[in-house]
Amino acid sequence: MNYTKSDALHKEALEHIVGGVNSPSRSYKAVGGGSPVAMEKGEGAYLYDVDGNRYIDYLAAYGPIITGHAHPHITEAIKQAAETGVLYGTPTAHEVKFAKMIKEAIPSLDKVRFVNSGTEAVMTTIRVARAYTGRDKILKFAGCYHGHSDLVLVAAGSGPSQLGMPDSAGVPQSIAKEVITVPFNDIEAFQIAMDTWGNEIAAVLAEPIVGNFGIVEPLPGFFDHVKEIAHQKGALLIFDEVITAFRFTYGSAQNIIGVTPDLTALGKIIGGGLPIGAYGGRKDIMEKVAPLGPAYQAGTMAGNPASMLSGIACLEVLQQPGVYERLDKLGAKLEAGILAAATKYNTPITVNRLKGALTIYFTNEKVVNYEQAEATDGELFAKFFKKMLHQGVNLAPSKYEAWFLTTAHTEEDIEETIIAVENAFKELA
Ligand code: PMP
Repeated sequence: MNYTKSDALHKEALEHIVGGVNSPSRSYKAVGGGSPVAMEKGEGAYLYDVDGNRYIDYLAAYGPIITGHAHPHITEAIKQAAETGVLYGTPTAHEVKFAKMIKEAIPSLDKVRFVNSGTEAVMTTIRVARAYTGRDKILKFAGCYHGHSDLVLVAAGSGPSQLGMPDSAGVPQSIAKEVITVPFNDIEAFQIAMDTWGNEIAAVLAEPIVGNFGIVEPLPGFFDHVKEIAHQKGALLIFDEVITAFRFTYGSAQNIIGVTPDLTALGKIIGGGLPIGAYGGRKDIMEKVAPLGPAYQAGTMAGNPASMLSGIACLEVLQQPGVYERLDKLGAKLEAGILAAATKYNTPITVNRLKGALTIYFTNEKVVNYEQAEATDGELFAKFFKKMLHQGVNLAPSKYEAWFLTTAHTEEDIEETIIAVENAFKELA
């Protein structure tokens, strides 16, 4: 494959855009460097780069594109929005319709509020939880990403449950000390942390099914215990469903694991590819938000008609019968092909999959927490990533991300992908 134009564009981008990218995860830093491929067209399951190369896409823009690129129903909705004015700064019927749709799918949401990104959604749930409880601290799980606001860019210390340290320059130590981080799926560490700090904790923040160190499901009963202990201590439970909502079912991960949080943050899929975030939850908590209550949150672009119409159209596609069964079937076929190729070439991998989302970890060990994901072979992943790219399969350039299937992928796409995986494993053997 020829990448002349991508290379040239990256050189030019480096002159004008910091690091040449508008989000650090798009750089190839984690896979040994090089110019990230620049795309210019998306159609169904495929992306086409500026040099004319075609890729079967499993990045799905880090999750939002679950119906494939340029889905006609969503494209039509965005066109309608463009033709009727994209922003009014007033209430609209679209936002009411969309709020009702989301509430129907996720029954724990008595009230919702639309924002513009997952980062904003999570950031605001924390503010609302603090306003409701009158407490400052939050507890999160190691390796879970919740956007780039100060409070959640905090890493664990070295023990099983520790006060945080800033994970980014510019996050004050005074903020980091309000955050406690414990390992995912470790109920003992959670109990110790809650025994120590529980009475100061406003909320426990979690991805109910992890998407940010690969796809990792909670162990049976984990969140039942987490919720029970959190509530005993007077802390709220916030689920960050920015990746998980509408990913595995028409609804959210809380519907799957059977644990209802007090507040939920949403994003990605619910915008059908346009910028969006949303948060919501229990009525008595949400009524702390302005203009009803003292917790302030606002947005010029919030609930904009284009994102609302695109989101409504996306959910309409996902309401069609059989959508999630098909994603599961294709996911199972892909997983089986990957595992067979690994057996054939003796490649040490573990696959974590739920429905149409999976992660290949280069390890023979099970992965149920961040420490285990971190210990997997990043160099082997980097080589694998490039070999897949050069065969026309677009993955996220990080060993911690998931492959996302879309409603546009076909059996043939999966078969072509499995052949590419076999070739890659053969060359890596
Ligand atoms: N929460 C989770 C679970 C996420 O995966 C992400 C983004 N990857 C965010 C929050 C932040 O969303 P955004 O990038 O839209 O700000």
